[in-house]
Amino acid sequence: MKRITILIPAYNEEQVLNKLYTRLQGVLAGLSKYRFEILFINDGSKDRTLEIIKELKRKDARVSYINLSRNYGKEIAMIAGLDYATGDAVVIIDADLQDPPELIPQMIAYWEEGYDDVYAKRRSRQGETWLKKSTSKLFYRCLQKLSNIPIQEDTGDFRLLDRRCVEALKQLRETQRYTKGMFSWIGFKKKELLFDREPRAAGQTKWNYFKLCDLAIEGITCFTITPLRFSSFLGALISLFAFIYMIVVMVKTIVYGDPVQGYPSLMVIILFLGGIQLLSLGIIGEYIGRIFNECKRRPLYFVDEYNGKKIPARQLVYE
Ligand code: UDP
Ligand code: MG
Repeated sequence: MKRITILIPAYNEEQVLNKLYTRLQGVLAGLSKYRFEILFINDGSKDRTLEIIKELKRKDARVSYINLSRNYGKEIAMIAGLDYATGDAVVIIDADLQDPPELIPQMIAYWEEGYDDVYAKRRSRQGETWLKKSTSKLFYRCLQKLSNIPIQEDTGDFRLLDRRCVEALKQLRETQRYTKGMFSWIGFKKKELLFDREPRAAGQTKWNYFKLCDLAIEGITCFTITPLRFSSFLGALISLFAFIYMIVVMVKTIVYGDPVQGYPSLMVIILFLGGIQLLSLGIIGEYIGRIFNECKRRPLYFVDEYNGKKIPARQLVYE
């Protein structure tokens, strides 16, 4: 019998976990051909999330959980889940019921047809503001242009991954993770499913614009060094203009003599160049920061507890 892991990262989700479990159970009941593992990753929740998960585990042997040592963020929670998942396939799903579990049977059907990565694409985004939708669109367009990997627009982390993809993702151990891009980067046979994304069932989204901005920079710097090239290009262009302007100034001085003038233009040029220099430094800084973070080679996370067992800090399941 094939085994499928349902991977659910959860951070402060006490209000929705029971609802999620009920709906999931309904869906899984119709799939008697498979064995399931419902793997919760408690990402350092400060509410009753962990207790609820433990309660569910007592009721249902299919439930297992990892309790991370603190809040690491969803990206890390996901890789932790992939490290611990035991299934032949893994379905990653949000705890807040924005990803309908009812799609899982269809994902499994495609998986059986031989697809390795069946991802759910949002047909609509209810409960999200116009601003979020349009900035998201703009970001994907930029990312697409800058990096050469086709990154699926309007696609979240809700997807089924074959064991091969899971093993591939487990080898990408960078600390600053942009998982959405990694799914594309690893390749394999992909299949798209369309669905209507519902608003959050209850509770609060953990995202704000500051974090989204961070994620956007992450997305770009993780996958492409085009911004570095952009600053070289800008530098070259400005040097060219400066050279031409120099000749203009020289000719003017020689031919017409030079009454001292041009304070405004001088000021503008200095400020403009200063801005460009700082921008370029910032771009370089982004990448240096990334090198700094990666070269520390820290483990991605520590697990406090796996199914009730305390995990020693040095013991990494993945290796
Ligand atoms: N999540 C997590 N750690 C965090 C933030 C979020 O594990 O630090 C989980 C959260 O519990 C949920 C999923 O990631 O299952 C998506 O989070 P959220 O709904 O806040 O994001 P959105 O749907 O608004 O993109
Ligand atoms: Mg959500």
